[in-house]
Amino acid sequence: MKYIFVIILLFLFTPLAYSQTKPSTAFVSPFDFPLLMSGNFGELRTDHFHSGLDFKTQGISGKKLFSIGEGYISRILVTHGSGYMLHVRYNNGYTAIYRHLSRFVSPIAERVEDDQYKNETWEVLIIPDSIEYPVHSGQQIAWSGNTGYSFGPHLHLDLFETESGDYVDALPFYKHLIEDTCAPVLQSIMFFPRSGKGIVNGKEERQAFTLPITGCIETWGVIGIGVKAYDYMDETTNRYGVHTVSLLIDNKEIFRSVVDRFSTEESRMIYSWTYHSYMKSFMEPGNKLRMLQTFNDQNGLITIDEERDYQFTYVLKDLYGNTSIYPFTVRGKPQPFTQPDYKNKFYLERDKMNSLSEPGLELHIPKGSLYDNVLLNNEILLDSGAVSFTYQLNDEPIPMHTYGDLYVGVRNKIVADSAKYYIARIGKNGKTTSLGGKYENGFMKTQVRELGTFTVRVDTVPPQIKEINPRQWKNTGKIIFKVEEKETDIAAYRGTIDGKYVPFAWEIVTNRIVYPVNPHKIKKGVKHTVELSVTDTCGNKGKIMMDVIL
Ligand SMILES: [Zn+2]
Repeated sequence: MKYIFVIILLFLFTPLAYSQTKPSTAFVSPFDFPLLMSGNFGELRTDHFHSGLDFKTQGISGKKLFSIGEGYISRILVTHGSGYMLHVRYNNGYTAIYRHLSRFVSPIAERVEDDQYKNETWEVLIIPDSIEYPVHSGQQIAWSGNTGYSFGPHLHLDLFETESGDYVDALPFYKHLIEDTCAPVLQSIMFFPRSGKGIVNGKEERQAFTLPITGCIETWGVIGIGVKAYDYMDETTNRYGVHTVSLLIDNKEIFRSVVDRFSTEESRMIYSWTYHSYMKSFMEPGNKLRMLQTFNDQNGLITIDEERDYQFTYVLKDLYGNTSIYPFTVRGKPQPFTQPDYKNKFYLERDKMNSLSEPGLELHIPKGSLYDNVLLNNEILLDSGAVSFTYQLNDEPIPMHTYGDLYVGVRNKIVADSAKYYIARIGKNGKTTSLGGKYENGFMKTQVRELGTFTVRVDTVPPQIKEINPRQWKNTGKIIFKVEEKETDIAAYRGTIDGKYVPFAWEIVTNRIVYPVNPHKIKKGVKHTVELSVTDTCGNKGKIMMDVIL
C-alpha cells in the first residue's frame, strides 16, 4: 500500500519540476577538470538566497577559467564583497557572473590596474561595449581564486536572464557532468502555532520535532509548519539547499516550493519564508516569492478542528529526481489557548503606515514593509548614566522588507563632536553592530530594516593598524597590514609608497589590507616609505608609517 502511494506521488511531482528547469541551450564547463559543487542555487543564507553555483577548484586558486558560451564581457569589477569578478553577456539570453577570481587575463588585467592607479581606489567598475571583449565558448577569460567574501578557493557562477534580471539555476546545464544519486534529508519539523489561535502539545510557542518523530503530536486551532532539510551529492561531504519541498495533508497538496528562480527584490523575502534554517510551508501576506505556491485558502496555514488523526507527508526532491518521503501523524485534540495581551504593546498592521512613539524614540515604518501583522514585545531599558535609553522593539528581531526611519534621543552628550555618535543594534548575545546615523536636534537618525533592540553609542577610538611580518615583504612581494576596528566599521582607507598612491586590497574576511608589490612600479631591494591610513564610520583615523626594504 505504502509503495503504491509512493509511485503516485512520484507521478504527481515529476512533470512540473522538470518543465521549469529544462535548459533550452547548452553551456560548456568553466573548467578543464571534473566538476564538483560546494554550494547550489537558492541555498539559504542569512539575508539572501545563494544566487549561483559554487564550483570546487581542487583546493587551489589560479585554475584557468573558460567562458561557458559565446558572447561578450559586459562588466569588469573589483569589489570588497565578490573580489575580482566578470559579467559575460551570452548570445542565448543569459548573463553569467564569475566571482572571487584571482586574476584577469591580458589586456583586461592591465586596464584594471591602470584604473586603480588613476582613480586611486582598489575597487573598479568598467562597463565595456559589446565589441570590446567578445568571448568564445571555451576561451580563457580569467583565473579562479578566493578574493572577496570567500572562505576557500572556488568559483561562484551566477546565471541570470539578461532581459528579466531573474537569477536562475545553472545546474540544469551541468547535470550531465555531475553525478547525484543522493536524495534530500529532512532533519526536523517545526510547528508555528498562530498567536491566540493555535496550540501544539499544550504550548503556544514554536516547537521543533527532530526526526524520527517519537510520541504523539497533538494540536488544535490554526498552525503553520516548516522543515529543516538539506540535499547531498555524490563524492562530496557538502550539504545543499533542497530544490523541491511539498507538503500534503490527507493526500492533498497544501504547499510546494521549487527553488529555481528569484529576482534581487525577492531575495530578501528569505526572511519571511524561513525561520533560522527552517523553510515554512505557509506564506505570510508580504511574502511574494514566486518559487512558493500554496493550494488551500489559508496560504498554507492549517486549521485543525476535528478530533482525529491527520496524515501529514513531506516530499523532498532534488533536480535529478532523487526523492525522499516523510509521513507523520498529527492528532487533533482540543486544548485551551490564551489571548495575547495587547496592554502597553504595539500592534502593527502590515497594510498600514506605522509610527511608533516612545519617550526618546520615533520610528516610521512604510506601508507594506512588514511581512505580516505583528504584536511587539516592546520595552524601554532605562540607564540614566548612558548616552541614551535602550529600546527593545521586540525581543526577537523582526525583519522588514524596506527601511524605516528611526530616531533615538541623545540624553547625555558626553562628547562634543556629534560625528562620534552612532545608533547601535544590540544582538541577542549583547554584541553591538553600528547602524551609523546622523545627529539632528538632540536625536540620532538612521534607517533600519528590522525591529530589534537599539541604543546610541559613541566611538572615539581610531582603527588599529598592525604590520604583519614586514621582514618577509621583500621575499613574498606582499605588503600586509591587519586592521582592528572594535566599535563601528571601516569606511575608507588609503595606502602609499614613497608618498604615491598604490592599490591596497581590503580583504574583508580577514580584515587584512594587502598590496602585492608590482616590480614595474616599485624598485626591488631598496628602502621605501610605506604609509596606510584607515578611517572608521565615525571619522576616527588610524595611521601607520614605516621604512622597509621591499
Ligand atoms: Zn557562492
